[in-house]
Amino acid sequence: MSDFAQSVKQQADIVKVIEGYIRLRKAGAQNYSGLCPFHKEKSPSFNVNAVRQFYYCFGCQTTGDVFTFVGKMENVGFPEAVRLVAQKCGIPLPKREYSSPEEAAEARMRHKLLDLHETAAAWFEEQLRGPEGAVAREYLAGRGLTPDGIRTFRIGYAPESFNALRDKLTPLADAETLRASGLFSHKEHDDGTQGPLYDRFRKRVVFPISNESGRVIAFTARTLETGEKAGAKYINSPETPLYTKGQVLFNLDKAKAAIRQSEFALLVEGQMDCISVFLRGIQNVIATSGTAFTEHQVALLRRHTSQVAVNFDPDAAGANAAEKSIALLTEEGFSIKIVTLDDGLDPDRFIRERGVDAYVQAIRGARRQADYLIERARMLFPGASAEQKVKAMNFLLPHIRRIPQKLARDQFAADAAQKLGIDSALLREELRQAALRRRDHIEVRASVLTEVERVLLRALSGDDPEHQHARRLAADAVVQQPSWCEPLTSFPALQALAARRAQDPMQVVTDDAQRALLAQVLLAETQPPSESEV
Ligand SMILES: [Zn+2]
Repeated sequence: MSDFAQSVKQQADIVKVIEGYIRLRKAGAQNYSGLCPFHKEKSPSFNVNAVRQFYYCFGCQTTGDVFTFVGKMENVGFPEAVRLVAQKCGIPLPKREYSSPEEAAEARMRHKLLDLHETAAAWFEEQLRGPEGAVAREYLAGRGLTPDGIRTFRIGYAPESFNALRDKLTPLADAETLRASGLFSHKEHDDGTQGPLYDRFRKRVVFPISNESGRVIAFTARTLETGEKAGAKYINSPETPLYTKGQVLFNLDKAKAAIRQSEFALLVEGQMDCISVFLRGIQNVIATSGTAFTEHQVALLRRHTSQVAVNFDPDAAGANAAEKSIALLTEEGFSIKIVTLDDGLDPDRFIRERGVDAYVQAIRGARRQADYLIERARMLFPGASAEQKVKAMNFLLPHIRRIPQKLARDQFAADAAQKLGIDSALLREELRQAALRRRDHIEVRASVLTEVERVLLRALSGDDPEHQHARRLAADAVVQQPSWCEPLTSFPALQALAARRAQDPMQVVTDDAQRALLAQVLLAETQPPSESEV
C-alpha cells in the first residue's frame, strides 16, 4: 500500500464511509451492524468494527477494509477506491497512480466524462437563466417550481441550437471523448463513416440524472415544442461508460439519508412527481423514471431500506410498469404498501392542489399490498358467485406465490379467503394449499360443486327423448330462480345449457373452466338423472 493510501486509511472513518452506502446500527462498544450489501439477507449479519477499521459478514464471510468495501460497491479497482475514499473524507489527492495502462485510460475517460457532464449541467443551468430560457422558466413556473427548487435539482435549458453545447465542450475534450459522452448525436454516412457531432438536446428542459454520490452522469430532457415538431416528450442520454439504463434510481443521492431515517422509501413513477414531492419536504422519495424496476435498482434500494410505499400514476399506461415493479420488489422480500390518491391524481398534482398535509395523510393511509390486491380482485370480479370467487383467487395467486416467506403467504391466503367471503371449507383449503406450494392458480374441481348442481348439469345435458321432461324441469328451475342459481359455481354453464336447443352440451358452454367442470360431471356419470332426481 502506498504512503498515500496508508494515510487515507488512517484518516478515513470506515463506519462513516460505509454508512454512505448502507444503514448501520450500533451493536456494541466498537461494533456496528447492518444488512449485508454483498448477499441477500433479512437480518443483519454484516458487521463493522470502528476501532480496527474492518468489516466482516457472518453470512457470506466477506471481509476487508474501507478500500475493498468502496471498490466492491463502486465496481472499481484499488487505486480508484483509494481516490474515492480520499474524496469522501476531503483528503487532497496526489498525482494518480494506476496498475495498468488500460486502467489508467479507463479512469481518465470516466473522469473526463464526469467533467464534461458537470460542465454541461452548469451550462444548461446558465441557459435557463438567460434570455433564451424564458419559455422554459415559464413552463417550470407553471409546474409550480420555484427558483430554489430549480437550483436544488439543477434543472437547465438546452437552447434551440445544433452546436452551442458542442462549441462549449470542444476545447475540453478530444472528438472520441465527446462522442462517448452521449451528449451529442451524429449522422451515419452511407459509406459507414460517422458524420459530425451535433447537440442531442435542443429546445428542451433538461434534468440531470445523478449517481448515488450526486455526480451528474446523464440527462433527461423534456420537449417544449408542441405539435409535429415536438418529437418524443422525453429523450434521455444513451448508455455511456458512465450511465447504464436501469442501474440508477432518480434522486437516490438526495433521498438516501431521509430513506434511512424514515425507514422506508416512497417510490413514484415520474421525475416531475419526485421533484415536486421532494421540494415540498417529503425527502425519502425516488423515481423509477417510467420504466419497470430492474434487479440492479432493487439491489441499490436494499442497501437503504426494505420497505417501500408505492405511489404510481393510476392510469392504465403506468399500471403495467407498476405491477412489474411491485412483483420484483415482492420477490426480493420487500414489504410494500400502496398509496392511492383521490380522484386519480398523480403525486405532483395532488400535492400542489391538496397540499403536503393531505399527501402525508395519503401516505399514512397506504394499504398493505395484500389488502390492496384483495380489493382489486373484488373490484375486477364482483358478485357472490363461486365462479367469481374462483376468478378472484386466481387473480391473487400469482401475487401470493411471489412472496418468499411461507408464513406471509399463508396469512395472505387466509385474509383473501375471509375478505372474498369464501365460506366453502374446500375452496379455502384449496387456496391455502396453492399459496403454501406457490402454485399460481387453483383448479375448480367437480368436487367443488354441490350435489344439486351436479344433478342439474346432468339433467340439462341429457338428449334422449326419455330425459326430455327432466331436462325441461331443470331448465325451468334455472330460468325461473336466477337468484338461487347465480351464486353457484357452475351458473354460467347451467345458464348456457338451459338456453340450448338441439346443440351438443359441450359446445354451448364456451368458457374453458366451465366446460372442464361439465366434462368432469358428465364423465363421472354414465346416465342422465331420472325425472324424480330432478
Ligand atoms: Zn454477506
